[in-house]
Amino acid sequence: MPDLTPDEFRERAAAAVEWVAAYRAGLPDQPVQPDVAPGSVRAAFPSVLPEAPEPLDALLAALDRTVVPASSHWQHPGWFGYFPANASLHSLLGDLFSGGLGAQGMLWSTSPAATEVEQALMDALADALGLDPAFTFGGGGGGVIQDSASSAALVALLAALHRANPTWRDDGVDGRDRVYVSAETHSSLAKAVRVAGLGARALRVVGFRPGTLTMDPTSLAALVAEDRAAGLRPVLVCPTIGTTGTGAIDPVREVVDAASGAWVHVDAAWAGVAALCPEHRDLLDGVERADSFCTDAHKWLGTAFDASLLWVRDARALPDALSITPEYLRNAATDSGAVVDYRDWQVPLGRRFRALKLWAVLSGYGLSGLRAHLRGHIALATELAGWVADEPGFTLAAPPSLGLVCLRLDSDERTRAALAQVNAS
Ligand code: PLP
Repeated sequence: MPDLTPDEFRERAAAAVEWVAAYRAGLPDQPVQPDVAPGSVRAAFPSVLPEAPEPLDALLAALDRTVVPASSHWQHPGWFGYFPANASLHSLLGDLFSGGLGAQGMLWSTSPAATEVEQALMDALADALGLDPAFTFGGGGGGVIQDSASSAALVALLAALHRANPTWRDDGVDGRDRVYVSAETHSSLAKAVRVAGLGARALRVVGFRPGTLTMDPTSLAALVAEDRAAGLRPVLVCPTIGTTGTGAIDPVREVVDAASGAWVHVDAAWAGVAALCPEHRDLLDGVERADSFCTDAHKWLGTAFDASLLWVRDARALPDALSITPEYLRNAATDSGAVVDYRDWQVPLGRRFRALKLWAVLSGYGLSGLRAHLRGHIALATELAGWVADEPGFTLAAPPSLGLVCLRLDSDERTRAALAQVNAS
């Protein structure tokens, strides 16, 4: 199949980059949310695919006509919803390099750079976050970039299942595995439990510490003991640093004690990157005793989806649970045992060179730039929380947490109406 020549690519890429730059420059003049009826985009989309090649201009015009007016503009300066809204153009450059190389990094031997750049970056980032050196490759553990925190939770659960019951790989699950969360834990844990085939009964919801929305270690210890006594198998506990709903921070250190040997996976999907700022290092208190830790670069670290950073304390844990080696994947480097094959650290076989995107962000901002970005958001949140406190009729629904402010009016109806009004403007 003939592709663009390098010169044709140069010309079209310049036009595509110009389109992205113009789109970003024009964002402040767009409404944040489109006014679109369900089905209207599909109806406007040609139902027959082009038989002959089209010029790039035709595609760009269609983007302007069909996509932009029907998009929620996540990169709009007035967008304050959800967490993954920081797709910096630095990271887009990294994605361009990754696509340009077009390499598959499933095995070390299929692209040594794709593996070793990721290893080196994850080690360096662990250090910058103040993670325990045990989570680095040098310390016996290691980091891997997943597509999402949901996938990170799934593979952590599979590693935990394997550690708790090494016959699991042959015999499958037996209905005795248990996973411990709180009512504020992200739903990705419930999904991981479902995907792993454990059944909803495996999910144990631990109560909160009185007067808080954080997991109560005393209740956890009691549940774990009760389950063990009943012949069940406590497999994994998931404390959260920065819950999705309110930014609550579970007491990881005490949770590890209460887990009494079950795998502890710390989900710090949005909040964890704040540990790059020395004044927020205490967020990670106790993580040095956990088995795995996840934070998303695609939420608050200026990196376009997808780049979820997962570290494990034991570099063998994921390969032991996940590795299957058919003849066509065998190679001398793998056989030597001297390399990491990241296909054994994730569910899919294929993987793209996501580390380039992360590298472009780290290089483009520098740690000081990223800290300034995090601190800027926290300052905005602090200011908003101050306005809420001063405004009659408004209250804080939970204590402000880093860049997250939860506020409400004096009834659910009025809160919903205000939300709709803000989102419509
Ligand atoms: N965990 C927490 C605490 C989250 O806030 C989120 C998403 O907001 C997730 C997990 C899921 O993230 P992902 O989309 O990377 O799977």
